[in-house]
This record gives sequence, C-alpha cells and structure tokens, in this order.
Amino acid sequence: MSRKTRDVAGIKLWSEVVREYFGHACQRCGRAHGRMNAHHIIRRANYVHRYNPDNGLCLCVHCHVWGKTFSAHGTPEDFLAWFAEYDPLWNSWRIRHKNDSMKDEGRLFTSWNIPYIESEITKLKAVRAAGGIKEPMRD
Ligand SMILES: [Zn+2]
Repeated sequence: MSRKTRDVAGIKLWSEVVREYFGHACQRCGRAHGRMNAHHIIRRANYVHRYNPDNGLCLCVHCHVWGKTFSAHGTPEDFLAWFAEYDPLWNSWRIRHKNDSMKDEGRLFTSWNIPYIESEITKLKAVRAAGGIKEPMRD
C-alpha cells in the first residue's frame, strides 16, 4: 500500500474523529446540519500535527472555505483573529507548535513515511475508542 493511500486513510480518520468530537457542529457559526469539514489549525503540511486530533476544528463548508467575507481558507488573518478569541489557550498552543519539525530531537519518526502514518492511525483509533479527545493538548 502506498504512502498516498495510507495518508488518505489517515486524514479521513482524523477528520471523522475531529468532527465527532465537536458533535458535527460548526464551531464558528453554530450550524449543525449539512456538510462539515475538519480544519487543520496548524497547516496540514506540518506532518508533526497532520493527524493530531487536537489540531482539528469542526467548521461548516462556509466557514471553512466557501465564505466570501469570512472563512478559514478565504480570509486566514480574520480567521486567526477569531480563533484567538474562540480559544486563547489553544491559540497559544498553535503559536508554540506551528513550527514543530519531524526532525526535532526525540521524535520516534523523523520523516513522513508509512510506519509514521500507521502509528498516527493507531493513535487516532485509540482516541476514538476512548470516546473522543479527553484532554486536548495545550502544552
Ligand atoms: Zn460555520
């Protein structure tokens, strides 16, 4: 199985765990029907947090990408200003961790490879089996 295939499975599971945690309700506008997305707080290109369930926020498609006057991807600066008020502690975590690197000392995996993705999927399954995210990472 290719890395791409495992990544798609990992992101899908990550998205499901995040949306379940927030009860499939948009955390910005409160909408609780229609299509919901999981938004990466720290960009998904940062592989340290790509599958981290504490790095996801449930947003409706409007607040995530479609909104012309406000959306996480359409107006990222406005979104971050909103996010800082929505959860100041989580925002502090974002700032402290946004430049985390796979190459940091002490990491079990130093590159984005299939064993790393498999280990992240295992962690996501454990979080889901435990009923969601119990202690969001705020360190
Ligand atoms: Zn919304």
